[in-house]
Amino acid sequence: MFPEFTLRYARLPERCYARFEPVPVASPRLVAFNRPLAEELGFDLAAFDAEEAAVWFAGNVVPRGAEPLAQAYAGHQFGGFVPSLGDGRAVLLGEVTDREGRLRDIQLKGAGATPFSRGGDGRAPLGPVLREYLVSEGMRALGIPTTRSLAAVTTGERVYRGLPEPGAILTRVAASHLRVGTFQYFAARGDVEAVRELADHAIQRHYPELQERPASERYLALVEAVAARQAALVAQWMGVGFIHGVMNTDNTAISGETIDYGPCAFMEAYDPRTVFSSIDEGGRYAYRNQPWIAQWNLARFAETLIPLIDDDQQRAIERATAVIEAYEARYEAEWLAVMRAKLGLATAEEGDQALVEALLEAMHTGRADFTRTFRQLADVAESEAAEPPFLEGFRATEAVTEWLPRWRARLAREGVAMADIAARLRAVNPCYIPRNHKVQEALSAAADHDDFGPFETLREVLANPFTEQPGREAYARPAAPEERVLRTFCGT
Ligand code: AMP
Ligand code: MG
Repeated sequence: MFPEFTLRYARLPERCYARFEPVPVASPRLVAFNRPLAEELGFDLAAFDAEEAAVWFAGNVVPRGAEPLAQAYAGHQFGGFVPSLGDGRAVLLGEVTDREGRLRDIQLKGAGATPFSRGGDGRAPLGPVLREYLVSEGMRALGIPTTRSLAAVTTGERVYRGLPEPGAILTRVAASHLRVGTFQYFAARGDVEAVRELADHAIQRHYPELQERPASERYLALVEAVAARQAALVAQWMGVGFIHGVMNTDNTAISGETIDYGPCAFMEAYDPRTVFSSIDEGGRYAYRNQPWIAQWNLARFAETLIPLIDDDQQRAIERATAVIEAYEARYEAEWLAVMRAKLGLATAEEGDQALVEALLEAMHTGRADFTRTFRQLADVAESEAAEPPFLEGFRATEAVTEWLPRWRARLAREGVAMADIAARLRAVNPCYIPRNHKVQEALSAAADHDDFGPFETLREVLANPFTEQPGREAYARPAAPEERVLRTFCGT
């Protein structure tokens, strides 16, 4: 069933990982499978059998050609450096080459205690596995770079997180699992050679165009390229109200994909200070901080490469600092591009940023739902009659009533028919996002009642976020006060 493995990471110096075989589980059952992704990865599905697949995706049998391992990494967690983290419950089987010729990692998350587990059980509860499945695939459908979810199995075993919960394993697919923390692990040990090998590996996999650059430029160019992808990524998060929740350096992928869906959640009523994660007491990873945390993480990445950037350390620091400072303008430009599109604008004018900010301010004072407000702009663009239901989403309407004619005047200068503007708006402003109460409902039904119906329905809804799906209006509306989810948990 599995395509051929390539084994690129396993060929890096042995100190980059610990060989580790997944620990077999009692009774694997396949509860979710991503057929289109499996096809993209070149799996042979002709004789697909769910029972057999469950055994593979549980790690009970290691596929031929795989050399399972746990990756070493370090990381800044909430600002504090932890020199040794590593895959405490994830096993990389190896890489496969997808239909487009790209290498993709296949990892089993929840596969048992590894040499990096530090006392943890190496397992994952079903709820968080399904959350990662739903949200990562939802992000993908929204057009946002992300790791993917190929399969979820339940293990037939219980895991204990206070209370017993069904255990599960997620098969995660990533462009790679290289993180800022992977580089930090070796930099902290003064192992410049390993850092260089990792950097060359990262360039080969994710930024092959840099291979031709002379060594004196290549590593600074890598920082710049990673910064560019992070700027674009975080701007896209901001555009859908996504709050990652644990933007630690070990959860910052060098590929520019969103990785590690722990306590992540989507903002409903617009408030830039929004935080969901129960462990983020200081609000370090609040919605509005995300762009600047990404910059901070990039600075940590640049630090690991200092010895490779320039022989003169002072000079290396200066050059790296300039790149990290340039991230700011780059991010602002990415954000403005995202927000212009969300207002239906394809041309650029001086006053656009102020126009965006004025709407956000009106949403903030009006406690308006982020997703719904932008989605309804399409109706408003098409007809003035759509204004009253749009305004109902605001608790205070003065600011937004002033804003609407400004926006209409700006749209007129686009010089295209309003029907075209509306089509543009509907193509970028989703109708459906993984609303927290709907995610919670799906997780609870599965974990508490072994009912995967709500999970399946939500998965289907999220697969087509830009198209209204008749009968599924409940998935488009914000949580009622009694349904609201205010806190999310890592659940690891
Ligand atoms: P995360 O919060 O998922 O990014 O994980 C942070 C670190 O804790 C990583 O090194 C994980 O491998 C480790 N970890 C998380 N959950 C477990 C677990 N149940 N058992 C062992 N290690 C874990
Ligand atoms: Mg992590």
